[in-house]
This record gives sequence, structure tokens and C-alpha cells, in this order.
Amino acid sequence: MSISPASVFRADVIAQKAYQVHDSDGFIKMDANESPHPLPAHLKQALAERLANLDLNRYPDGAARHLKEKLLNQLGLSNKYDLLFGNGSDECIGLLMQAISDGQAKVMALEPTFVVYGLAAKNFQLNYVGVTLNEDFSVNVERTLAAIKEHQPKLLFLTPPNNPTGNILSAEDASKLIEATPGLVIIDEAYEAFSRQRLISLLDKHDNLLIMRTFSKIGGAGLRLGYLIGQQKWLIELDKIRMPYNINSLTQVAAEFLLDHAEVINQQVKTVIAARDSLISALREFAELTVYPSEANMFVVRYEKVRDLHSWLNEKKILVRQAYNWHPLLNNCIRISTGTAEENAALLCAISEFFKKQS
Ligand SMILES: *Cc1c(COP(=O)(O)O)cnc(C)c1O
Repeated sequence: MSISPASVFRADVIAQKAYQVHDSDGFIKMDANESPHPLPAHLKQALAERLANLDLNRYPDGAARHLKEKLLNQLGLSNKYDLLFGNGSDECIGLLMQAISDGQAKVMALEPTFVVYGLAAKNFQLNYVGVTLNEDFSVNVERTLAAIKEHQPKLLFLTPPNNPTGNILSAEDASKLIEATPGLVIIDEAYEAFSRQRLISLLDKHDNLLIMRTFSKIGGAGLRLGYLIGQQKWLIELDKIRMPYNINSLTQVAAEFLLDHAEVINQQVKTVIAARDSLISALREFAELTVYPSEANMFVVRYEKVRDLHSWLNEKKILVRQAYNWHPLLNNCIRISTGTAEENAALLCAISEFFKKQS
């Protein structure tokens, strides 16, 4: 007898669509906010040797002690604070939601933003409340304070710089929102490396705050490594529901290797920041495009006939992210991740051809 998944799994799981990842073979990838820069060849070689020395017959260090010590050192935090690693910050988001999941709790984020907050909330049967940003994508502090008061969220996600809009939030405004929140606030700093501002020092000021970071946007997307930074009292509880050995030994060793070569990563980040700024300026030369400012490694572009432009870029084998079905504020928008100088030149060339063809 055949048993149907629908008779076993929750109806809302059956009704869901899987997260789509575009096949990128042969494309210039400007769709996923990764670093466009691989490690230089000599470092790849050195990393291969370190990885070859691992005994894969053994489980990894379940607490990732070496990695933790190295990262804590590099962050230079007071010993009041600790780290919790996730298989990507996606897993950290999942742990937080799992820990509050009781069929009633509310999760809040400022929309449009990172889609995983909403997806994870749904999977853990939480009530997700999206508070809309201003038209220019800045945070509407009054509206958010009112929503916090009304909904009393257990978790509030703040995302400076925000994905996809690239805007930040001042420390003063962040503090107002944190003070008003009856639950825990997570400042998701996935893009802090590309920004002039980071909010980690707010940890000293607020008891109900965690900072979340990731290796994904600075050259380590393939590692799947993210982490929460904050007081032990919060992290100890989350650690109880973390699956043992969630960070594999290849990732632990490779992440340590990246930390040992932080100067290379920092240089790559600087290159991306400069390339982002010149790509944004160059795109602003096209009168038809509205190009939004950004403190991240990606930015939003609005154009009346964005679907035509998007399919043209696809034809030209350049992947960018559609944002036009994401949120009403992103009507006619795509999101472009900064590439290498060559990739950015190829994008500009393709867009130029597109507008020549139009006229
Ligand atoms: C990319 C991204 C992450 C990172 O997720 P990982 O699971 O660490 O790759 C987290 N938050 C935001 C806002 C992001 O855009």
C-alpha cells in the first residue's frame, strides 16, 4: 500500500514551494551576494594540505573550540561574550525560532528583507509580522515602535545593512527599538564588512541583544558557517537545541584558515567596496535606471521594464536576482551583487546593448 506524504506531513509543508536556486553553470553570478573572489592559488594549495591532514573517520569537535578561540580573539570582545556557531546563519535563525516555537509566539522583521526570516517562522509555526520600511527603504522607527507595542514579538530581526535594500540603521534608532522590545533582538550583520557602520558595541548597552554574522558574504559561502555573538545566558539555552556536530571538521579547519589569512579577506572586501561604488556610479549614467545607494555588497535597481532587462541579462548569461515579486516596495526592481571588475564591465556592456536595442 502506498502512503501519501500528505497523510503524514503538515498541510502547510505540503502546500509550500521549495526555495529556488537558479542553475548557474556558465553564468556570471551576480545573484547571491557572494564574494566574487576565490582564494589566490597559493592559499588554495596551503588549505588543501591542511584539509588533507584531517581524520574524516572521526567526528568534528562538537564545540569547535579552536575556531571559537581564534574568532573570539579576532573580534576582540570582552570575556562577557561568547559565540554559537550555526551551519550558516540560516541555522542560527532556525535555532532561535525553534527555541520560541509554541504555536503563538511572534517574530518581527522589517520588510522587504531577507526571506529566510519569514520562511523559518513558517516552518516553526510562528506568527510572522513584517513591518514595512519607508519608500526610500529607511526604517520607519515610529511605525516599528507601534508594531512592537501591538505585537509584543519574542524575536525582532534588524538587518543593517539590509538585504536587498543595502540601507543601514543608526545606533540611536536601533537602541530605541531594542529598548521597546519585550523579547530578544537579533542584529543580523551579514553585510557589516561592506558598511561604514557596525552595531556590535550595542551589546554593552542592551541585555536583550544578540549580533549575528556569517562567513558567507566575505568569501566563505561554501563553508556554511554563521554565528551568534552575545551573552552566555542566551547562547547556553540555544546550545541545548543545536544538533551535535553541526559544524563539520572541513568547515572548522577552512574557517580557521581564512581567519589566519584575514589580510587577504580584508583586501578582497576592500576591492568589492570600491567595485560596488564604481558600478553604482556607472549604472547611474543610464537615465532610465534608478540605482539605490548601498552599504552592502549588493544593491537594488529599479526600471520600468525590468522584466525585459532581466530576461536580456539571462540571455547574456548574467544572473541577477529578481526582486519584483518580493515585496510591493520593490516593484520593478532587481538586486545586483557586485562582481569582479571584469564581471561588472560585462554587466555594463550588456545593459548598454539592451538600451541601444530599445531605442
Ligand atoms: C546572506 C544572508 C545571511 C547569511 O546566511 P548564511 O546562512 O550564513 O549563508 C544572513 N542574513 C542575511 C540578511 C543575508 O542576506
